[in-house]
Amino acid sequence: MALTCPGCGTEDIRKVSLIYENGVQKTRSKTLFGGGLLGLLGPMLGLGAAVTRGTNKTLTAERLGPPQKMRPVLSAVIVFLGMLFFAFPVVILIGASISRAVEGIFGMIFTVTLFGLPIWIFIHGVHYNSQYPELLEKWNGLFMCERCGDIFSRDEAIKAEKASVKK
Ligand SMILES: [Zn+2]
Repeated sequence: MALTCPGCGTEDIRKVSLIYENGVQKTRSKTLFGGGLLGLLGPMLGLGAAVTRGTNKTLTAERLGPPQKMRPVLSAVIVFLGMLFFAFPVVILIGASISRAVEGIFGMIFTVTLFGLPIWIFIHGVHYNSQYPELLEKWNGLFMCERCGDIFSRDEAIKAEKASVKK
């Protein structure tokens, strides 16, 4: 049984993972071509091509790219350091400009957040990564319609087909 698009009913559908791989490969070959141009026609043209390529790659990756694993420890450390060195002075300055009592309250809230937020990010990241194989499998089961651009899973397509048969 051929799968059809739940949006428009065409059989012109492709696996998202294949479209993505194809897109990345095309981007790579364009990069090689751009490198040759850079040598022949000067840096200005090369720069223009590089900007266009960057956009293409980002669009493909954003729309159809596989889920990315998180880095819980790194994310938590970055947030912790960022808050300590950038947010802390601002919060204390604002608090101090109002009154000593407010400065104390701000300091307390900030200290809780300073440790609480990175811990939450870490737990969230670990939890997300534990679901990662499932997310990747889901991504592997996605299809995209070549006609209307609908992105859907195999289950959705089968469900839509059954519903249309009933009618
Ligand atoms: Zn369609």
